[in-house]
Amino acid sequence: MFALDDLAKLFDLTIREDNLAGGLTITARSQAIVLTPGQSLASVAGRLISLPAPPVRDGRAWFVPVDFVPRALSPALGTPLDLRKTSRLIIAGNIRVPRIGSSVEALGPMVRLIFDVAPQTPHAITQDGNRLVVKFEADSLDPVLPALSAPDLVQAVRPGDGASIVIDLGPRFGSYRTSDLPGDRGSGRIIVDVIAQPATTAPGAPPAPTPPVSPPPATSPPPLLDLAPTGGIRTIVVDAGHGGTEDGAHGPGGTLEKNVTLSVARRLKAALEARLGVRVILTRDGDATVDLDERAALANNNKADLFVSLHANASVRTSASGAEVFYLSLEDYGDQAQRVAKGETEAVPVFGGGTRDIEVILWEMAQARYIEKSADLAKDVEAAMRERVPMSPRAIQQAPFRVLVGANMPAVLVEMGFITNADQEKQLISEPFQSSIVQAIVDSITRYRDRVAGPKPAGEIAAPARPGGAP
Ligand SMILES: [Zn+2]
Repeated sequence: MFALDDLAKLFDLTIREDNLAGGLTITARSQAIVLTPGQSLASVAGRLISLPAPPVRDGRAWFVPVDFVPRALSPALGTPLDLRKTSRLIIAGNIRVPRIGSSVEALGPMVRLIFDVAPQTPHAITQDGNRLVVKFEADSLDPVLPALSAPDLVQAVRPGDGASIVIDLGPRFGSYRTSDLPGDRGSGRIIVDVIAQPATTAPGAPPAPTPPVSPPPATSPPPLLDLAPTGGIRTIVVDAGHGGTEDGAHGPGGTLEKNVTLSVARRLKAALEARLGVRVILTRDGDATVDLDERAALANNNKADLFVSLHANASVRTSASGAEVFYLSLEDYGDQAQRVAKGETEAVPVFGGGTRDIEVILWEMAQARYIEKSADLAKDVEAAMRERVPMSPRAIQQAPFRVLVGANMPAVLVEMGFITNADQEKQLISEPFQSSIVQAIVDSITRYRDRVAGPKPAGEIAAPARPGGAP
């Protein structure tokens, strides 16, 4: 809330308390705003507007909800007042202060910086010595800039003079290129690719270690042309199965499932971001051990819209082959989860009661609410994969996979093929096969998004509580 006295100083308001009626009259440029204690309705120049909460008196001071500024004060003053809660700014008048969100990703010998600018604002990008400067035609900027971990290419991204952003380049900088794309609802997206010089091996330097499986595609960045509006899907978590001390399944030729899943996950991230313009988060981007519940928690904490877990299958029958797509079976998770999934109970058990903005639901109930959407997604993934890679006779199945149960969004698990089958093992580590899988999943998510992805279920429910202890 704002103290009314502070607003009075800023906007030259006069405040008069009506002791008889207990009301407050605020005069702003000869227009009257009338507030009544205990009521969230206010009158502005004779018109009723609603506030999220009533005004509150604390001692001699009055406090009003922050939305009083755009909803009541702005019409009374006849001036646009733009309230930016996250950056704690009130922007008065018609000055141009675009909001800038940003993200960064390392794509092999390149760092891609993505700036989402709302509203879309004309800008120019120039190189000035060891800096790139993105200069906007604006009065000021309201930026959230990314943290970086690629100091050899990009040392920092920081606000510059006036309405500009400076990208400080590192010693490996070779070249850069930029593209502009339309974003959602009048926003714009600026992509700046900072590209490293070709590597030169120093004399006597040891050869670089060879990665176990092909690295993510890095030579030519994927095309950005078919970037469509993201619809209901903004963030996708891609889960590379196993990792660290957990090898997953072993192939007869020595291939480890954990390396195949990581390689495909990295490719999938790059492709989804380029083709769909969504944010993709990997549950691991290295050979790390990650607990199953942590993987779903990462997706929940980032409010992901989809969760895709990648695996390679194993069977004692070495001829078993083909891909399979799974969504969660609730059989192991009790009657309550099944009733939630069937819509037989309205009440999802929550901690903390129904009046809070953020409710906490039981871990084992999270995926139950999305079973139908997960089934839809699984069907799309299965159909798209069938067009590109061999499928198992049981191509779509339900199973009680732990990694899916806590995911508070549609979630599927893809077994890309049988690593225990010698022929499939060779496919799984090959570039063309991995690309086919990636292409199929991108296609299926595009279809899913266009077909069913709507708003989340009523009552935005945040990250489920993580149960204590191991899964
Ligand atoms: Zn696995």
